[in-house]
Amino acid sequence: MKNKLKIGVYGISGCAGCLLSILFEDCFKQLIKLVEIKAFPLIKENNYGGDFDYVFIEGTVCFDEDIIVLNELRKRAKYIVALGSCACTGGVPSIKNFLDEEKTMKLVYPVYNHLKSTPPTPMDMHIKVDYYLPQCPPNKEEIIEFIKCITTGREFKPYREPVCYECRRKGNLCLLTENKICLGPITNGGCDALCPTNSVTCYGCRGPCKDANIKAYLDMLKEMGYTNKNMHDKMNTFAGLQFKEQEGNKSKWLEK
Ligand code: SF4
Ligand code: SF4
Ligand code: SF4
Repeated sequence: MKNKLKIGVYGISGCAGCLLSILFEDCFKQLIKLVEIKAFPLIKENNYGGDFDYVFIEGTVCFDEDIIVLNELRKRAKYIVALGSCACTGGVPSIKNFLDEEKTMKLVYPVYNHLKSTPPTPMDMHIKVDYYLPQCPPNKEEIIEFIKCITTGREFKPYREPVCYECRRKGNLCLLTENKICLGPITNGGCDALCPTNSVTCYGCRGPCKDANIKAYLDMLKEMGYTNKNMHDKMNTFAGLQFKEQEGNKSKWLEK
C-alpha cells in the first residue's frame, strides 16, 4: 500500500477553535483514513520530531516565540497550510494594529510591562505559506475537500467569488436593504453565506476578494449614512490588514 502523507497539526497564539474543527467527527474520520497524523500536540502526548508532507497551523503571530515555532515548522514541512482566519489574515487579534496599544493592553492586564508581544500578524508575513483555509473557525467541508485533493493529486481550488454570490443563490434577504453594514460584497465566499443566512452581517472572516471594488463599496455605505470609522471598525474585525492593503487608500473619503 502506498505510504500515507505525513501530517502535523499545530497552533501558535490562537483559541484552539480551528484545531477543534479538525476534530469534528466527519472531518477527523476522513483525515485518519487518508493521511497519517504524526503530530497533533493538542491531543497527542508523544509527537514525531521528523519531517512532514503537510503542516496545518492555527493562530496569529503575537509573540517572538510564535515566529520561532513557525520557522522550525517551515523547515520540517514540504507544505504549510494556514488554518483559519487568525493564520490567514491575522484574525481578531490583528484589531490591535488599529487601536492604541497602551489602552488595549490595559483593558486586559492592569500591569503588562513584563509581557513582550509583537504586532499581531498573519503567518505569511513571517514564513512562506502554501495553502490557505480561512474562516473563523474554518469550514470543515473545505478541510475535507483539501485533504481529498492532496491525497489524490487533484488541484485544490480556493473559492474566489464574494459572499454575496452564495447569499443571493440562497435567496436571503439582503441585509444592506435593512441599512446594516454587511461586508459580503467585498469578502471572499466559500462559507455558504453562513452569517447572512442566519440574519447576521458578514464580518469579512474569509478575507477580501482579490478584485473587490472597495472604493465603490465604501462610497455606497457613505451614501447610506455611515462614517469612515463605522466602516473601518467592521473591516478591521478579522482582516483589517488585508482590507487596508487592498484599499490602497484610493478613496478621498478614506482620508477623512
Ligand atoms: S480563526 Fe477563530 S477559531 Fe481559529 S484560532 Fe482564530 S479565533 Fe480561534
Ligand atoms: S446580506 Fe450581505 S452577503 Fe447577502 S447579499 Fe446582502 S450584502 Fe451580500
Ligand atoms: S459570512 Fe462573512 S463573517 Fe460569516 S463566515 Fe462567511 S465570510 Fe465569515
